[in-house]
Amino acid sequence: MRNNSGSSAFALLESTLASELSKELRNGCTVNHLIRNGDELKNALHVALGEHYSNAPILIFSDGVKKHSGVDSFSIDELFQNLCKQEDISFEGINLSEVLSCKPIDVHASVGAVEVLKAFLQGQSPVPVVVLGSGSITDIVKHTLQELKWTSTPFIVLPTALTVTAFTSHFAVLEEAGAKRTRVSRNVDTCFWFTPVLASAPIDMTRAGYGDLLARFVAYGDWYLAWKLGVAVRYDELAFRLMEPFSFHLRHHAAALVQWPVPSDAIEDLSAILAMAGIAMSVSGETTPLSGYEHTISHALDYLRLTSGRPLAWHGQQVALASLASAESYDHLLSLEQIDLQSARPHGDERIKKTIYQLLQTAPYFGAGEFGLSADERKAGMEKMQSGIAQACELFTQDYLKKHSHWLKAHSDISKFEQEWPSIREHLRKLVITAAEMQTLIELSGLALVPEQLSQPTTALEYRWAVRFAPFVRARMSLADLIYWLADDPALWATI
Ligand SMILES: [Zn+2]
Repeated sequence: MRNNSGSSAFALLESTLASELSKELRNGCTVNHLIRNGDELKNALHVALGEHYSNAPILIFSDGVKKHSGVDSFSIDELFQNLCKQEDISFEGINLSEVLSCKPIDVHASVGAVEVLKAFLQGQSPVPVVVLGSGSITDIVKHTLQELKWTSTPFIVLPTALTVTAFTSHFAVLEEAGAKRTRVSRNVDTCFWFTPVLASAPIDMTRAGYGDLLARFVAYGDWYLAWKLGVAVRYDELAFRLMEPFSFHLRHHAAALVQWPVPSDAIEDLSAILAMAGIAMSVSGETTPLSGYEHTISHALDYLRLTSGRPLAWHGQQVALASLASAESYDHLLSLEQIDLQSARPHGDERIKKTIYQLLQTAPYFGAGEFGLSADERKAGMEKMQSGIAQACELFTQDYLKKHSHWLKAHSDISKFEQEWPSIREHLRKLVITAAEMQTLIELSGLALVPEQLSQPTTALEYRWAVRFAPFVRARMSLADLIYWLADDPALWATI
């Protein structure tokens, strides 16, 4: 039995899943345990390991950053390992930063990291796996298990901060040549939402997780738009129905994120919402419901930093800021009484390749340092990055051309969209909140409202470039594409 008593949001999670999903779909979802103390953790571990409880061994992964468990003076690694010792569970602790030969803070989810971990585990028989950590380590381990086909032994995740939706989703976001790519991955069997450790996490991390969730107020519009334009092949509102009951909680807790420790009711409710967000994407079979235009802006900012070897800003913080740009762009779109796409002639492949190439060659890779560089210094700096840029250019172009071929097909029948625009517009307004409301949530929660306030200061020039590059970040359509197809500039539709 899972012990989710006393939490209205976890009860809502269970009842919403029961009413919206078939039994078969429910069986494939991560089981979520709300855990408030060590005894409850022991019971939950018992349930999650099942028959493996006494005949383990288990592998316990952490990233090497010492995190306070919120219980006595123990770190979460010590607390969990002590629990295993008491229960006579044999285990092996694996510090992923040692496996990857990097500093603990430099562990990030990439195709390369998965390859290294795969080689490390190759030849071992599958055993139960526990991850104690945040989104990056969860994605690395999740995808490695998928590739090694370790799919029938229990896989448990204990998030140490409410940062991303990785803990319950069947997807991993992995970096390849500076480009973030979403891959179908192994599902997490059980997630332990251990509130003492979550409440002890740095406030910026909790706030970032909140920021990632704000995408749900805009991203659905992108999916609906793509479907109505004939670019997306399918659309359904299941994920919307799963997330919508939590709208109140999401709005209600914005103001709780300016104090530390974050009040326990906010931690519990946000855990349930993050859990549902991962599940909503998994049962939809795609990340589309919670990842649209705003995520492409965030990925473009990451691309600039990864290519030039600079540290990344918090994912969710960027997503929140970019959600504002998306909401502003939707406000503009929805102010249009009519839309003329017939006279917007699609570009040819060669023109597109040139645009992507030029945007990548002229990108502000040097951050604030950009302004002090002479032409020669910039050229020298760019030379070091050229092989990475060329690889990324190929990836971005390949993906974009897939989307472009759908657009070419859709364009031949575009008058239907133009005629239906009044009703499409009306429905979009139900799926997407206004920029004013988005701004209020960002302000109340203390998230960044301008690029300069991100955890890694970002110049307005970098941000504007990321917004402009958003159409070319991936194969999936968003509002940024529609703006581009209208021969307009996404950076002009948002107030940046
Ligand atoms: Zn995200």
